[in-house]
Amino acid sequence: MEKIQYNLLKREKPVKLPADLGFGKIFTDHVFEMDYSSEKGWHNPIIKKLENIPMHPASMYLHYGQGVFDGLKAFKTESDEIVLFRPQKHIQRINNSSKKLCIPNVDTEFLLQALIELVSIERDWIPAKAGESLYIRPFIYGSEPFIGVRPSAFYKLMIILSPVGAYYPEGFKPVKILVQDDYVRAVRKGLGDCKTPANYAASLYAGEDAKKKGFTQVLWLDGVEQKYIEEVGTMNIFINFKNEVATPKLNGSILPGVTRDSVIQILKDWNINVTERQISIDEVIDEYKKGNVTGVFGTGTAAIISPVGWLTFKGLEMNFNNGQPGELDIKLFEELTSLHYGKIEDKHDWIVHVEKKEIEV
Ligand SMILES: *Cc1c(COP(=O)(O)O)cnc(C)c1O
Repeated sequence: MEKIQYNLLKREKPVKLPADLGFGKIFTDHVFEMDYSSEKGWHNPIIKKLENIPMHPASMYLHYGQGVFDGLKAFKTESDEIVLFRPQKHIQRINNSSKKLCIPNVDTEFLLQALIELVSIERDWIPAKAGESLYIRPFIYGSEPFIGVRPSAFYKLMIILSPVGAYYPEGFKPVKILVQDDYVRAVRKGLGDCKTPANYAASLYAGEDAKKKGFTQVLWLDGVEQKYIEEVGTMNIFINFKNEVATPKLNGSILPGVTRDSVIQILKDWNINVTERQISIDEVIDEYKKGNVTGVFGTGTAAIISPVGWLTFKGLEMNFNNGQPGELDIKLFEELTSLHYGKIEDKHDWIVHVEKKEIEV
């Protein structure tokens, strides 16, 4: 792979972050970018100013949606170090997602290095208050101008960065979820296990429908029988059945979340009985009626842990912990955030340090 080129801005004044960061609204002023062609492979890696992308109106991505993305975070620790959480796993997932989309693989080592360099250059943009972080969004899209369905001959890979606020500015609050059986998100053997724009397009109508009815998000059932639980919004889901914490088994239509994987490992470390298996919505309802469901929560990079306070299915409203977060939800949230901010030992080598790097401009 070629060396990364730098075309950096001269920063006249220090970066000033707004008080209310929100999520995904503010972007740092540099991006990483590289191109792909079948002759040259991935080439022209560069870190440069963030600008609009000039795009041919026939760019294949615009018409046929051939793209993938990922999402991970960088944190500023108490000792002012910058760390990434399990970046290798996110980068590997880009290649996994790319496979079904016929997008060429990237060199994972090289992309990790590029990502680290970009974060290092933009370190002044990383907010340091509790819960705040730098959201990192790598993505790839087919850029060939062509009308007709086949894989693009050219691609662009970019990494953009967004400083984000705490996901729960008003505290760790459980959400209201509608169990959706009128629409499906993905089917087995489809694209459900890829982070590709099509899945999010497919989820919009059901999500808006749920919001109109007063819910925050939907719980997706499987696309074939609409019987088994799969995910909650854009998060993986866990059910705390008194003596077992269960999460749906990765079956091809569920996105293999890095937070999901981390939560499973942490629960094992704590000697909690955690299983990956099929869970039907009927089982959840039956166990709820017997008083055996002590909590439900979602997992994902953005929210980390999102307690579900209410689940509604066909007019039946289940309520967990009287609208308060479950004990386990709180413990897991604290464990993960303590790891992120370097407050506890990183037993599983999940943390990657970003060294300071000065680049001449
Ligand atoms: C990104 C995502 C998740 C969570 O994955 P993490 O790696 O934990 O962030 C879960 N479900 C869907 C549909 C997603 O897009």
